[in-house]
Amino acid sequence: MKIIDVAVIGGGASGFFGAISVKNHKQDSDVIIFEKSQKLLSKVRISGGGRCNITHHCESTSQLLKNYPRGAAFLSKVFKQFAHNDTRLWFETRGVTLKTEDDNRIFPFSDSSESVIECFMNEASKLGITIKLGHGLEKVDLLNNGQFSLMFENGFTCLTKTILVAIGGFNQAKGYQFLTNLGHTIQHPKPSLFTFNIADKQLHTLMGVVSPMAQVKIIGLSQEAAGPVLITHWGLSGPAILKLSAWAATELYEKQYNFLVKINWVNINEVEVRHQIASYILSHPKKLIQGNPLFSVPSRLWEYLCAKSEIDTNLRWQDISKRANNKLVDALTNSQYEVKGKTTFKEEFVTCGGVDLTQVNPVSCESNLIKGLFFAGEVLDIDGITGGFNFQNAWSTSWVAGKNIAKTLFEN
Ligand SMILES: Cc1cc2nc3c(=O)[nH]c(=O)nc-3n(C[C@H](O)[C@H](O)[C@H](O)COP(=O)(O)OP(=O)(O)OC[C@H]3O[C@@H](n4cnc5c(N)ncnc54)[C@H](O)[C@@H]3O)c2cc1C
Repeated sequence: MKIIDVAVIGGGASGFFGAISVKNHKQDSDVIIFEKSQKLLSKVRISGGGRCNITHHCESTSQLLKNYPRGAAFLSKVFKQFAHNDTRLWFETRGVTLKTEDDNRIFPFSDSSESVIECFMNEASKLGITIKLGHGLEKVDLLNNGQFSLMFENGFTCLTKTILVAIGGFNQAKGYQFLTNLGHTIQHPKPSLFTFNIADKQLHTLMGVVSPMAQVKIIGLSQEAAGPVLITHWGLSGPAILKLSAWAATELYEKQYNFLVKINWVNINEVEVRHQIASYILSHPKKLIQGNPLFSVPSRLWEYLCAKSEIDTNLRWQDISKRANNKLVDALTNSQYEVKGKTTFKEEFVTCGGVDLTQVNPVSCESNLIKGLFFAGEVLDIDGITGGFNFQNAWSTSWVAGKNIAKTLFEN
């Protein structure tokens, strides 16, 4: 039986980037990508609403690392070798022109994920990477000579010197079995990046309103997040909510998504809000409270908060009672809602959990337990918030794994 150099398991972002990295570091190696389904790069295709948010502009790698609720310590070693700026260079030198949007997300200039897919397919063909569809890896046996015997769901078997496991996250929970059989621990996979379901009809009437700078916090937990909050017809969404869902993914899973969320709609502390209202009353005593939002609160939200504070439509600032003032301050800085359940954000989610990072060497992405076994992408217990950080994990870990697989092949 022919012994292949590298079996890449998974034809997604990490599998392709890893296979290309091996070939870039060792041109004459024999690399095969085994993909379980009949489709390659399916998540890349639908990513970023079909535009593929490749990475994120950050001033430094330490700033980049702040966007990973899990895996930042591991990635700090990985990013020393390949980080966001390397991603830009990698794509641009291969003909994928990129653009940075106002919020620092980076996309192909074409606004189409097809540019990325085309780039990968061209590179794979140019470098002579073999692709086998419909090959779901089922079983791995480690042989006495350090090689691996692979068995696929379709009955295909082969021998390989090294393996790059790039099977992705959550949907592939069953696919983790061959890893546990090899002694690897899997941190229980659970969803990250979701929105909050809140059954409050009054709130739902504000559907589509965005509070541009809110602060959200889960009562009883330490995690909090700041940024825009979008009110939807089922509850709350927007960057701050998604960030919070990622940072508290484990705790919210344990609470079975039943919890209390606290919103400060203006992200200004209570004392300062009181102070600013008092100054406003002094300078604009005759102004109506309703219809004249403070703190740049959107008008529909302001009216909702005034109604919540039982402020009459004709009330002027000079006539506001102490009680109503207190209620308004509370509504602005401490609105609380009961969350019951979650909703996937535009079908976009990542997995919190995966291969335990203590069993993987962050310098090489090789297993600490089994030589020749490497990991990349979402299969690892690493996940980022939205904004291109999850692909950056895929590119960086697979580039590092590919480089070190090539090194292993040179040594043997
Ligand atoms: C709708 C959506 C939009 C997204 N948009 C963005 C975005 O714009 N920017 C961003 O940074 N992140 C985004 N993400 C997250 C990002 O897509 C993933 O983090 C990334 O695709 C992970 O790459 P991966 O190669 O590790 O895993 P995957 O892309 O999941 O690829 C794994 C591959 O392995 C195959 N496989 C699984 N098990 C086996 C097996 N046993 N044998 C062989 N093959 C197997 C699977 O079929 C799959 O093709 C998005 C996610 C979703 C769901």
